[in-house]
Amino acid sequence: MSRAGVPDGEAGLAPEHCTLCPRCCGVNRAAGATGWCRASRQPVVFRYGPHHGEEPVLSGINGSGTVFFSHCTMACCYCQNHPWSQACRGDVLGVERLAEVLADLREAGCHNWNMVSPTPWLPWVNAAVETAAAGGRLPVVMNTGGYENVKTLERFAGLTDVFLADLRYADDDTARRLSDTADYTATARQALRWMYEHAGALQVDDDGIARSGLICRVLIIPGYASEALESLQWIRDCLGAGVAVSVMAQYMPAYRAIESAPPLNRRISYGEYERVAAAVDRLDFDCGWMQEFEGETEESLIGYKMPAGSSTAGS
Ligand code: SF4
Repeated sequence: MSRAGVPDGEAGLAPEHCTLCPRCCGVNRAAGATGWCRASRQPVVFRYGPHHGEEPVLSGINGSGTVFFSHCTMACCYCQNHPWSQACRGDVLGVERLAEVLADLREAGCHNWNMVSPTPWLPWVNAAVETAAAGGRLPVVMNTGGYENVKTLERFAGLTDVFLADLRYADDDTARRLSDTADYTATARQALRWMYEHAGALQVDDDGIARSGLICRVLIIPGYASEALESLQWIRDCLGAGVAVSVMAQYMPAYRAIESAPPLNRRISYGEYERVAAAVDRLDFDCGWMQEFEGETEESLIGYKMPAGSSTAGS
């Protein structure tokens, strides 16, 4: 071991001046310092396994091989993953163990390696994928809230095959209040531009499983449906109809939103859902999904339907 608790082979992975995400804290994580996300010298993973609730092109039949990383670079007050994204629970894994996790997911028949919020850990993730790929590489999915540093995306350009990226807000004041991410809108839009230019439209194999490309998720947040509309319009105007768009209606009050004032303490209304569904029809994307409206109180989630006239294949 070169430093306390850090295997020799990983000694160079922790950034000495961390700018992995747009917060650009500049802290020396190699020396044990921590920045805004509190990530330190080795990855923390809360859980992993086949996940059947992603978009059909990712979940397929056998599930998406999902790895949930701790220490998110956003702080959403409604986050359903807050025990690990913000409370940072999980197990510390080195590169070797992380590669074993990826091998396990491959052996389980998963269609891809789906890295959920991996940004503070990208050097280790990249190394683990290189190791695990010796036994057969699966498409790597970068599952992100969209708040990404383009320089980091460029640095790890060879890692990701499928970008599964949120465009969560269209107003920075909302982003600041709900996610403590005051420069979200321009930052996420710039990142999405890069992702689309780099990875292109969604491509699927003969079984309808994603091989590469961008899927952009737009979450309908209660009281903020107008921002979902604005984001959809931006995608259509600035990226084009070829982007695979996944509109998410699954919002449930969680974490601090449960005790918050309206509107965050409720599910989306049918009226909000209908406004966004009408926009999806009008904007006529080539490809995408929209979750079914599940009611204003029910807890069942993730029933996808295709927008009229769309397909799973990218243009
Ligand atoms: S990954 Fe964490 S430490 Fe690095 S810049 Fe982002 S918030 Fe700061």
